[in-house]
Amino acid sequence: MSKKLVVANWKMHGNLAVNQQLIAAYVHRLLPFNNIEVVVCVPYPYLAQMQSLLEGTPIAWGAQNLSKDTEGAYTGEVSAGMLKDFGASYVIIGHSERATAYCESDENIATKFMQARTHGLTPILCVGETLIEREAGVMERVVAKQIDTIIHMYGAAIFADTVISYEPIWAIGTGLAATPDQAQSMHEFIRNRISVHDIDAAQRLKILYGGSVNPQNAVQLFVMQDIDGGLVGRCSLNADEFAGICRAASETGLPQV
Ligand code: PEP
Repeated sequence: MSKKLVVANWKMHGNLAVNQQLIAAYVHRLLPFNNIEVVVCVPYPYLAQMQSLLEGTPIAWGAQNLSKDTEGAYTGEVSAGMLKDFGASYVIIGHSERATAYCESDENIATKFMQARTHGLTPILCVGETLIEREAGVMERVVAKQIDTIIHMYGAAIFADTVISYEPIWAIGTGLAATPDQAQSMHEFIRNRISVHDIDAAQRLKILYGGSVNPQNAVQLFVMQDIDGGLVGRCSLNADEFAGICRAASETGLPQV
């Protein structure tokens, strides 16, 4: 078992003043939880602010997207190298809010995953099904396709020391989280899917659950065998709620040191 990981996804929220207060509250409230890893993923313009506020603290920072290209005439895009310039160590890839609104294909997402790895960033790959797909019973097929695209393009070993976040689309921002059994079953499926090709990579992969995680449901989710932590949207904008989720990760993870 490795340390549980809790990732805050601020989405398109915040400004310089609000961020400063929120980070100060995070640092203060998360101090007791020395047996977990915490990452905050912010809009691009605030990476420099995170670097100055978080350097030297146990909290890491990252972005919510990156370009699939390394450099060139790609107006509006931000490369992996640019994220590294601001001390980012993680990047969210393929979040459903992007995949849907900006028509990202599984191939594009796979290329971004490779870009992140090549530049020493830890990718957090989001996978998950819609409500219609779950009701039709094809959720495993949908998630398998997202993962298999990466395996076919780059091989399963690429998943070692990376993060996959299972985010059922119907649970994101709705207040309706997956049940611990639903989440565990998909997490086990994901690990097995990679394990068939590469047991070591599957063991070194962290699988987070994302979708309406809150301080009340976090313990029941995090206690499940294949749930290595959470990706948190709405509750990450409130330091008390986020700390409650981190406490759940701490209580269900490795012993405190
Ligand atoms: C997310 O956007 O990744 C997410 C999990 O959001 P929320 O926690 O608000 O459901």
